[in-house]
Amino acid sequence: MKIKFLIRMEKDKYVKEILKLKKEKNAVILAHNYQLPEIQDIADFVGDSLGLSIEASKTKADIIIFCGVDFMAETAKILNPNKKVLIPEKAICPMAMMLHPEEILSAKEKFKEKNPVVVLYVNTHASCKALSDYACTSANAVKVINSINNDTIIFGPDANLADYVKKHTNKNIIAIPKFGNCPTHHKISVSDVREAKAKYPNAKFIAHPECRKDVLEMADFIGSTEQMIKFVRTSEDKEFIIGTEIGIIHRLRKENPGKKFYPVADTAICPNMKMTTLESVYNALKFERYEINLDKEVMDKARKSIERMIAII
Ligand code: SF4
Repeated sequence: MKIKFLIRMEKDKYVKEILKLKKEKNAVILAHNYQLPEIQDIADFVGDSLGLSIEASKTKADIIIFCGVDFMAETAKILNPNKKVLIPEKAICPMAMMLHPEEILSAKEKFKEKNPVVVLYVNTHASCKALSDYACTSANAVKVINSINNDTIIFGPDANLADYVKKHTNKNIIAIPKFGNCPTHHKISVSDVREAKAKYPNAKFIAHPECRKDVLEMADFIGSTEQMIKFVRTSEDKEFIIGTEIGIIHRLRKENPGKKFYPVADTAICPNMKMTTLESVYNALKFERYEINLDKEVMDKARKSIERMIAII
């Protein structure tokens, strides 16, 4: 159905209507840590890709509203093929767009005598996941790869995460594509970190493994968004420079009122993650748009790699 107009209401009214519709339709709202503060505040669960994938696999709701980007909503659909999964905005992940099924097939062919295992970051489309043996997230990539018996691993699409994994395993990691990256993390530079450290000398620098190798070398802690949240919660330190998308700072401040957080760079913003608004969540619930539909065979194949990952962690 084509929506010809968007209903405009004040923020409080949207929140009220969203909560009402959510109850009426037995819907659950999942939001990634990088979503806008007001979206995080109305969500039933806020987390990283892994946490949200697990929540999606456990939910009893009939409708899942996924506030994030396309591959995340696809993952929720793969794990819940009989439920309606809606994404409020057609938000894409530029990194997921960097890998295509043909590239996986060609790498498998090229290294076939080594019997490679394909491990793909969850930031991939379903058509790629369907060709993989295991999925992984930034939280568990090292654990998943170390649990595999083969020595040769085809890994994609994030070359920075591939570098990070290489450092923590003895496997032969073949990155596909060669220079895949998350533009938001890849643009965080060594000079950003130096400047932030000079400005906040008492702060610990915590970074996401999607950052470049030279930036990670300057970090006091490296982890996924959820691992960063845990690190901050349990740390004795009071100030932190945040080396990931700035959306996470909302949750960090909310959960740690006595601590201070500074973005490593004000430009660490993923525009795709910021597309979702209260208005679009309302419209998703009201008009049940935009629904994720995937081919059954693709979903069945992709599910195996996600379930293998969940079994390891
Ligand atoms: S932050 Fe990076 S990986 Fe995450 S959705 Fe944006 S572009 Fe993709």
